Order: sequence, then C-alpha cells, then structure tokens
Amino acid sequence: MATHPCISLVIPVFNEGDGICRFLDTLDKHLDTLSNYTFEYIIINDGSDDHSDDALTNYTFSRSSKVIHFSRNFGKESAVTAGLAHASGDAVLIIDADFQHPFSVMDELIHTCFTDDFDMVYAVRNNRKDEGLLKRALTHCFYKLVNMGRGPKLPIDAGDFRIMSRKVVDALLSCTERVRFMKGLYAWVGFKTKAIEFAVCERQHGKSKWNIAQLIRYAIRGIVGFTDIPLKIWTIIGFFISFASFLYGAYNIVMALTHKIDVPGYATLVTAIFFFGGIQLLSIGIIGEYLSRVFQEVKGRPTYLIRDIHESHKND
Ligand code: UDP
Ligand code: MG
Repeated sequence: MATHPCISLVIPVFNEGDGICRFLDTLDKHLDTLSNYTFEYIIINDGSDDHSDDALTNYTFSRSSKVIHFSRNFGKESAVTAGLAHASGDAVLIIDADFQHPFSVMDELIHTCFTDDFDMVYAVRNNRKDEGLLKRALTHCFYKLVNMGRGPKLPIDAGDFRIMSRKVVDALLSCTERVRFMKGLYAWVGFKTKAIEFAVCERQHGKSKWNIAQLIRYAIRGIVGFTDIPLKIWTIIGFFISFASFLYGAYNIVMALTHKIDVPGYATLVTAIFFFGGIQLLSIGIIGEYLSRVFQEVKGRPTYLIRDIHESHKND
C-alpha cells in the first residue's frame, strides 16, 4: 500500500494563549478532510509570556507533534528556522496561529505543491487595505530598494505562509547566517516555485506583534542582508559630488582671474557644510549597519535557544 506523504505544519506561537487551543482544534478538524496526507505539528513557543505555555503543555494532540519552547522570545524568523530544523515531513507548511491564513488556501498550497509538482508554493496577499498609509508606503519603498540589485527578486507581499518540499527545506537550512531574513532566503534558494493570491483574514484573538519601529528594523535586516546597493551607492554619489565641486571650483578660479570678481558665498558655504555633513553621517550610518551585521555574524551566537521540547508520537 502506498504511504501518504507527510506534511509538517510549522506553527510559530508568541503570546497566542487566548486562541491557540481553538486554533489547533479547528485546524485538526480541517486536516481530517485531507485524507491523502499525514500531518505532524511543529509548534514553536517563541518565549511567550502569557498562558500559551500552559495551554500548549495541557493540550492533547491527536497527531504526532513537537512543541519546542524557546528560552526567550527570539522573533518569528528564528521560530520558523527552528520549525524547519525539527520538521521530518516530506514537505513543510508554515502557518500563523491567529487564523489569518485561511485553511482553504492551505489546501490550495498543498494541492498545487503535490499535484503540479512544485518545490515551493507561496501565498501572496492580494491587498493591504487593512494597513495604514505610512505602513503601505514604507512597504513599497522596502521592496523597491531590496529588489534594485541583480540578485533574486523578493516577490511582493509574499510572507511565510507557504509549503516547501524537503529539497527546499534542506537548502534553507544550509544557509547558515544567524541573523535570518526568511523572505530573502526563500527567494535566494530558488527552485520551482508558484504564487497563489489570497485575502488575509482578520486576526481572531490577541493582537499583532508588529509595530512600525519593529517593521523598520525588520526592513533594515532585509536590506542589509540581501542588497549591498546602500553601501555602493556612496561611491557614485561621491564621484558626482567631487566632479561637480571640481567644476564649480574651476569656474570660481576662472571668474576671479578673468573678471576680478570677488566670489561671495557665506550662505552657500554654510549650506554646503551642513549638506555634506549630513551626507557623510548618513553614509557612515549605513556602513555602520553593515558592520553591525558582520559583528553579529562573527560573534557566532545561535539563532535561538531551546528550553524544552515535548514530543508525542501517533500512528496515523
Ligand atoms: N510570532 C512569533 N514570534 C514573534 C512574533 C510573532 O512566533 O516574535 C508568531 C505569532 O504568534 C503568529 C505569527 O508569528 O503566529 C505572526 O505574527 P503576527 O500575527 O503578530 O504578525 P502579523 O500577522 O501581524 O504580520
Ligand atoms: Mg497575524
């Protein structure tokens, strides 16, 4: 008898105590309808400080499961990385624990991956109407900047909601950088991929863990990790500024010699000093971002630390 493919469901959890049991119950019922597959749960409790810990410890799983408790909150990127490292399925599907990723789209991801033989099928949100203007503008700038280089392009509005074959999971795990930006890594590994559009649902409990400051930090992480354009651009800017000042200097000398004009310019001088001061600080700041990334990588600290793992095995 042919065995059914096993799919590991990676579910990152941070302070989802109010709804995690209901989420797992609903998911479990839904998975019963997908009889051509077997499933295992890989749940990462990313250092929750609400009652997620107790909720997960007391939950009775009807399928094989691993609940990995981090020693503290390391962030979703680390939680997903740990999930991939502990998954043993033929494919891995990542889904949020807050009902924002519809189960019908999960079915579509699974179906497209196995039936149409794709290595990675990812969900792309079809609108950002739920977000404010500032967040949307920043997201737009982020994608423009990070996709300016010659490297692989990040698909716009694709997140972690995706299914990946074992080949892709192993490729992602072979990327050993410690400061991880999963959206970039998914694009970087390549393979045969397909996008599916979906409408993101409302969060059903708790609240989003992201604020604007965190999003900006997250965007900088992506930019620093996946493009060196902000570093290199200063060579070009520097070249043009030097060239322009050389021309301006030459013009001043010629004017002074030929027309005996005393070149006025107190205001110009002050403006130029502030302008170039600003530009220099900005460029040093950008170099600092890259240097800090090198520093973090050189320290070689682990991406996450595990406090406990609870496993339960079931024969499906
Ligand atoms: N999450 C996590 N660690 C964090 C923040 C979030 O594991 O530091 C989990 C969270 O519990 C949820 C998923 O990642 O299952 C998405 O988080 P959230 O809903 O806050 O993000 P949003 O949907 O607003 O982008
Ligand atoms: Mg969410």
